[in-house]
Amino acid sequence: MEQPRFVIEACEAESMAKKSGLTVPQLLPTLVQEARSLARTPISNYYVGAVGLGSSGRIFFGANLEFPGLPLHHSVHAEQFLITNLTLNAEPGLNYVSVSAAPCGHCRQFFQEIRNAPDIQILITDDSNNNNCSGVSQNNGDTREFESFSRFLPHRFGPDDLLDKDVPLALEPHNNHLSFLYDSNSNIPNGINTPVCDDLKYEALKAANKSHAPYSNCPSGVALMDCEGKVYRGSYMESAAYNPSLGPVQAAIVAYIVGGGGGGYEKIVAAVLVEKEGAVVRQEYTARLLLQVISPKCEFKVLHCGMKSC
Ligand SMILES: [Zn+2]
Repeated sequence: MEQPRFVIEACEAESMAKKSGLTVPQLLPTLVQEARSLARTPISNYYVGAVGLGSSGRIFFGANLEFPGLPLHHSVHAEQFLITNLTLNAEPGLNYVSVSAAPCGHCRQFFQEIRNAPDIQILITDDSNNNNCSGVSQNNGDTREFESFSRFLPHRFGPDDLLDKDVPLALEPHNNHLSFLYDSNSNIPNGINTPVCDDLKYEALKAANKSHAPYSNCPSGVALMDCEGKVYRGSYMESAAYNPSLGPVQAAIVAYIVGGGGGGYEKIVAAVLVEKEGAVVRQEYTARLLLQVISPKCEFKVLHCGMKSC
């Protein structure tokens, strides 16, 4: 089976648009059905697809994820998946989004972590009631118009209300200056140290250093390994409104899916979480719960880090 795609390079996007007689932004709604087909929604069976055009000219896909056995707030919305996909690919900006259903309040809020959020152009294809997820576009020649995001969330509450202007936002480069506090070998709980854990802990530290956590100042990151030894990193991403924040395990699961982790989550065999010692926002218990439910045999370790003194 062909590997699903989550990113379309700028040159390919341009040639696809040309072939269809569309501009690149007009191409986005024609890809929404393909994005919807990537959803994993065993609870609601409600597929949402989101397709975004980044400032580099690349196109990114997002789809919603649900986890049976867990409370609903562990779910990943399609727009959160899309924004995580942008960060995984170091995309510096988001200009256009097309989505299969009107973004929920939670997602309208989550978008605010992007610097130019009010100017992002949105087009809702409104085809979520159509459960045909064959990936075949039904919107060629779409004449609907994009609208500014500010229309969808007037009087917004966002980063400007809480942060100084020079604090980096979600798509901007982050370096949280975290390092392991001690000789990292002695920092392994229960004295267990395995080569697997050793590889993963530095990947998880990299993810924690890229984490967007300006509200709690508690960045964190997760690295997952699948049964083939491939590693996937996810960074915790906060929202100014707190609740829409996306946990580091969810971000790493997005990386797992984008990176070709087809099939089930039981293929995830090891995970390391890195977070600050004594953090007021701790991911450990939630991360353990989520991993236990989706991949019961996954080996899970937590390592603590601190800010390097400058
Ligand atoms: Zn949503």
